[in-house]
Amino acid sequence: MSAAIGIHGAHRAFGDQVVIDGVDLELPSGSVTVVLGPSGSGKSTLLRAINHLEPLDRGVVTVGDETIGVRVRTGRGGVPRYKELPERLILRQRSRIGFVFQHFELFPHLTALENVAEGPIAAGVPAATANARAQELLERVGLGDRGATRPRQLSGGQQQRVAIARALALDPSVVLLDEPTSALDPELVGEVLGVIRALAGSGTTLVIVTHEVAFAREVADHVVFLDHGRVVEQGPPAQVIDAPQHPRTRDFLSRVR
Ligand code: ADP
Ligand code: MG
Repeated sequence: MSAAIGIHGAHRAFGDQVVIDGVDLELPSGSVTVVLGPSGSGKSTLLRAINHLEPLDRGVVTVGDETIGVRVRTGRGGVPRYKELPERLILRQRSRIGFVFQHFELFPHLTALENVAEGPIAAGVPAATANARAQELLERVGLGDRGATRPRQLSGGQQQRVAIARALALDPSVVLLDEPTSALDPELVGEVLGVIRALAGSGTTLVIVTHEVAFAREVADHVVFLDHGRVVEQGPPAQVIDAPQHPRTRDFLSRVR
């Protein structure tokens, strides 16, 4: 299988706090990767780097066969430096990656359908086509009858399902989900996990940051445990979740279960 996402030598610091400290990952096309790790371990920063919402200081991120950021040598014997791609390419690459945020981030003044159709319309898809596709996506997340509703009239679980439909609107090759259920009341978590479970079964490449360990064991092909910006342990769930080798992984799992 080809890599849908590659991360090589990723590094990011805020001031003198190193947040991503030499991460290398290869995520095969069609795979479901769950990223686990304590609060502050760099999970969101890593996900945001893949989508270009945060730059890296150094490292290379590839999506499909395209490079998102490149390390270049500056000057003779110069220090490798992370160089951003032109905005035009960043936007094109971002359109191939869906992103689902912890707090949904829907446009409050748009209806559910408009939230889903807005990206494709902005990208030049004719409105009738974009609206029909948005309706299909709302049906897929169980909200086919809520298209005319504004976000504040929807429950948190429904809003997150609209956000997932929106993330799928441009037929992305990868969907990144950053703690998609952690802002939800407990009784609403199941409906969102159900939608993600169906997505995982459909062959879309997913990267999910979550503390839902039982869910991770069920859907993940690959589990990555991140601590202090480093990949401490990675492998199939039967290894990382059921038989963790590293004390920090064991300690984390004992606290979230
Ligand atoms: P996680 O998602 O695993 O909880 P984050 O990637 O959000 O971790 O953050 C990792 C660390 O980087 C935290 O200590 C956080 O405070 C810090 N951090 C994240 N974003 C910024 C920023 N824009 N400016 C300064 N510090 C940041
Ligand atoms: Mg986070």
